[in-house]
Amino acid sequence: MGQVGIFGGTFDPVHWGHLLLAETALDQASLDKLIWVPSYNPPHKQVTDFEHRVAMVELAIADNPGFAVSLVEKNRCGTSFAINTLMDLSDCEPNAHWYWIVGLDAFQTLPHWYRGGELAQLCHWLIAPRLLSGENVTQSELICKQVEQQLHKQCISIHWQLMHIPLVGLSSSLIRNQCRKHHSIRYLVPEPVRIYITQHNLYGMGNRE
Ligand code: ATP
Repeated sequence: MGQVGIFGGTFDPVHWGHLLLAETALDQASLDKLIWVPSYNPPHKQVTDFEHRVAMVELAIADNPGFAVSLVEKNRCGTSFAINTLMDLSDCEPNAHWYWIVGLDAFQTLPHWYRGGELAQLCHWLIAPRLLSGENVTQSELICKQVEQQLHKQCISIHWQLMHIPLVGLSSSLIRNQCRKHHSIRYLVPEPVRIYITQHNLYGMGNRE
């Protein structure tokens, strides 16, 4: 029985913020491995082709033996829901102790996720502070406690901890915007990812060097 982390996201594209979060989770919770799960058909989001997003994650994590990518979401029809991902991964590793890695913005919406209450109880939550319009790190704790209380009202208990991580003001949308404006994304994403984006002309980047 191992301790396994699940890091779901659109990764459109993967950036250094994601990598720092994943490495911190591995270290802080002494995980045996962390599985990156690119979502195939996320609710409420238009995304770049799954194959491109997976290729970029693979390039980004290639040098870290603690990381793996799962294509589990591709094998399922319809919208990608987190609870199904956990169920599918548990089928392969029935004795694992599961951790879900998530940014504060996403964790805040957990009570509204499809079968979110059920999912909340099935794993331990590792939450990365993230700047949400004007909030600071101290408030991150408060926001997590509010989510906990919301779930308690539905008789749902949840185990969570904040990750010790510096705030990183990076997002995939910021990178897509930089590309659209033909601005540099060097040092915002791992170099092989930047080269992939340029070569495949993703996000309107063209052939900028
Ligand atoms: P977008 O800008 O397209 O919404 P994103 O940067 O939030 O994308 P996702 O792939 O949607 O990236 O995020 C996957 C997970 O990583 C989410 O739980 C999100 O909260 C978290 N995350 C992403 N970037 C950061 C960051 N800079 N700090 C903390 N958490 C982050």
